[in-house]
Amino acid sequence: MKILVLNAGSSTLKFKLIDIICEEELISGICEKIGTDGCITYEVGNVNVTKKDIILKDYDDAIECVVKILRNNSEGVSQSILDIDAIGHRVAHGGEKFTSSTIITEEVIQELEKCSELAPLHNLASIKVIKVCVEVFKDIPMVAVFDTAFHQTIPPKAFMYGLPYDVYEKYKVRRYGFHGMSHKYVSVMATEFLGMKYLKSKIVVCHLGNGSSVTAIQNGESVDTSMGFTPLEGLIMGTRSGDIDPSIIGYLVEKMGKSCQDIVKMLNTESGLKGISQLSNDFRDILEAVNQNDYKAKLALDMFVYRTVKYIGSYIAVMNGVDMIVFTGGIGENSTYIREAICENFSYVGVEIDKTIKLENYNCREISTAKSKVRVVMVRTNEELMIAKETYAARGKMI
Ligand code: ADP
Repeated sequence: MKILVLNAGSSTLKFKLIDIICEEELISGICEKIGTDGCITYEVGNVNVTKKDIILKDYDDAIECVVKILRNNSEGVSQSILDIDAIGHRVAHGGEKFTSSTIITEEVIQELEKCSELAPLHNLASIKVIKVCVEVFKDIPMVAVFDTAFHQTIPPKAFMYGLPYDVYEKYKVRRYGFHGMSHKYVSVMATEFLGMKYLKSKIVVCHLGNGSSVTAIQNGESVDTSMGFTPLEGLIMGTRSGDIDPSIIGYLVEKMGKSCQDIVKMLNTESGLKGISQLSNDFRDILEAVNQNDYKAKLALDMFVYRTVKYIGSYIAVMNGVDMIVFTGGIGENSTYIREAICENFSYVGVEIDKTIKLENYNCREISTAKSKVRVVMVRTNEELMIAKETYAARGKMI
């Protein structure tokens, strides 16, 4: 049973062909610079990386290229297009309409177009790719899997902003939350791994990567999350500011003589670790500079830890306790320093980390001691596998 997972960005298309029965990645790759130069990089069975410059003027070209690779026999692969049982499309924003993964029909495409106002760059790319796939893959079932759907269980008291109610009614301004696939995947994995009951647990998931978010999951449902109307809110991230006082925007428009859009762009692309350190958005560069006693890098690091601690603490309060804290994302999976620095602040709820545990070569591992009152686990996220699983499950409902 083979599922093709497609993840369209504003100028990229990531693809993965996954055998869902044995959870094996058969082919994976990325088309980049779509609409400008074009470049495709892919690997077959986790080996034989191939990189080619190839003109990709639009998503039609990119899909054609992916199909050729799937069919390609020159590297000894014989994947017929007919071998694909279903296609899972990652869609950034499902608005309030989509609360779970959904089989794609003509009506669904129209609904997706309506949600696109909320995330124009990403959703429009996904819709384009979906439309090309309808033409190319004809009757192969397709499923839309949303970043926002997992968070649709968040109650109004947590998803509403303190704005006039009609701003929500008219413009749908509310917290949506993102990284849903990752939060769901790692929380399910961690509870299965520890033999805990997912539907009877209080979990805080920290997805710490270039984009970062924390989610409170109670009895299997997301009850709050740090990203909001857009992925800008919440934690300090690689280039994103996370929470700020909104008055700062108006103040800077005046002081810097820039437009509101320019300031919002600065909050998205020039802030966070990069902006504070004046060095880099990459966490490894920050750690290296901290080792050289760089003041701004140390400040960025401390702020990153502090903000994450504040969110975890508030979610423990919201759930009136916590059974497990999960770390994932490039930083959460790989940085011992970050996990330990964050967990130090939770000794008051009985968190105790075993500092002797090494995580290399593990996809999932407990890092708390046997005495710890809260289990702490590292899980390597795999959003594509989660999309493939959701696609498989949704397809199953169709037949
Ligand atoms: P994205 O949000 O783009 O998916 P990732 O989850 O891949 O990002 O995380 C990227 C971040 O993970 C970068 O800041 C990178 O420096 C950090 N990272 C990767 N490996 C390590 C490591 N060994 N130690 C510390 N940070 C790491």
